[in-house]
Amino acid sequence: MAMDAETQMQFLYTLRSKGVTDARTLSAMEKVDRGDFVKGLFTARAYEDMPLPIACGQTISQPSVVGLMTQALNVQPRDKVLEVGTGSGYQAAILSHLARRVYTVDRYIRLVREAQAIFDRLGIVNITSMPTDGSFGLPDQAPFDRILVTAAAEDPPGPLLAQLKTGGIMVLPVGQSDAVQSLIKVTRLETGFDYEELRAVRFVPLVEGMGQE
Ligand code: SAH
Repeated sequence: MAMDAETQMQFLYTLRSKGVTDARTLSAMEKVDRGDFVKGLFTARAYEDMPLPIACGQTISQPSVVGLMTQALNVQPRDKVLEVGTGSGYQAAILSHLARRVYTVDRYIRLVREAQAIFDRLGIVNITSMPTDGSFGLPDQAPFDRILVTAAAEDPPGPLLAQLKTGGIMVLPVGQSDAVQSLIKVTRLETGFDYEELRAVRFVPLVEGMGQE
């Protein structure tokens, strides 16, 4: 599926009107066609600002929330980024245009395999995808300049805080899975962590252990 010019203009307009104003974020989102990451019946709604179902009972996030998270992460061109929660691969593809290297992990092997097939087809070569429980981070590749978690934990997982470089930023939703959660931005300082609350969000829960598919 390809986005026509008018659809793309509307898509970018909606992002801006919801607060996604950072030029680099908008330009990265312009390069990634959400229609490539949505399947079947839902492709017709790929450019609407709403979350949509994907395989394994998971969801591809709402574009404006993807944009706000990407913007808050403030990725730099030399950065090594970890994403926990590959899902469809949409967010990772956007990050791949902003970072040097993106590691993305999901507890469902099937989602990782399908996302990797899309990255290959699109010729995206700086994403490494892996099936693993991301609540423990990715110790082999740590530390990271940026960490983005796209599933909600009750608190920021300790291993992820530990795998963030000094000066590094982590953006994640926190809160109970069945309640409204807060999107927070954690910055690792020389002496500790700074926490900033960004807005209310709703994400699927961060679940420990591998999935069944
Ligand atoms: N970023 C995705 C949306 C992710 S939905 C996109 O752009 O489409 C959240 C994802 O987090 C789901 O795919 C779910 O399987 C995954 N997830 C939940 N708990 C996890 C864990 N402990 N480790 C890795 N992935 C996890």
